[in-house]
Amino acid sequence: MGKVIECAKVDPSSGCKHVIRGNTEEEVMKNAMEHAKSHGIREATPELKAKAKTAIRDEK
Ligand SMILES: [Zn+2]
Repeated sequence: MGKVIECAKVDPSSGCKHVIRGNTEEEVMKNAMEHAKSHGIREATPELKAKAKTAIRDEK
């Protein structure tokens, strides 16, 4: 079972429907930071990382 982060859960104001996936928490975080670049975020703040981390869910 993998891990997912719904972009909308991290930043509802973005209106983004992207779902980030990874096999592990570490991987999904890495992919999320990669995805953040498509929102013009070049470097994630500790706040954003913390937000993303709490948004991690087990994939169903
Ligand atoms: Zn997004």
